[in-house]
Amino acid sequence: MSKDDGKRIENYGDSYRFTASSRVRRDGDVIWIPELYCHNGHSLMDTGVTFDGYPSVHILVRTGDEVMGDVDFYLSSIVNDQRKQGPELPRGVPYAIACPTCGEEFKRLIPCTCQVGAYRRAIYLTPDPGELAAVGICECYDCPRSFVTEEGDLLYEVVVEQTKPRG
Ligand SMILES: [Zn+2]
Ligand SMILES: [Zn+2]
Repeated sequence: MSKDDGKRIENYGDSYRFTASSRVRRDGDVIWIPELYCHNGHSLMDTGVTFDGYPSVHILVRTGDEVMGDVDFYLSSIVNDQRKQGPELPRGVPYAIACPTCGEEFKRLIPCTCQVGAYRRAIYLTPDPGELAAVGICECYDCPRSFVTEEGDLLYEVVVEQTKPRG
């Protein structure tokens, strides 16, 4: 775990059965997700950008900036791995994030605690959103708060302890 940022992962998935075909996989200490989809069933996986050999998750970020426009981001498919490839963006601002294939924005699931007005948006472990297997990612650049649900049950959640002001 990292030292000072208060980030940690809650594991609710002790009884989860990892297999060679499960929607969430385990290789040693690495927990990762092999397939992710938008709500219209488009695969978001990209093998052109990888992290530790695992495929990345390709999303579109609507910067709202006239010059930058929509930018491509590649997120790590490893649970609780903040690495990503994409341009530097201003922090602490919620961005609309969308599917690079259909261009539709991912649905807002629940508010994020990082700031008022920020939400965690849904991408799915199966092509059918009705199966209730989802990853929720915050729409703020650099916010690590995320979670994984399978069949409606929370499996993992990355939380950040609110640090008390010093002095
Ligand atoms: Zn799509
Ligand atoms: Zn957040």
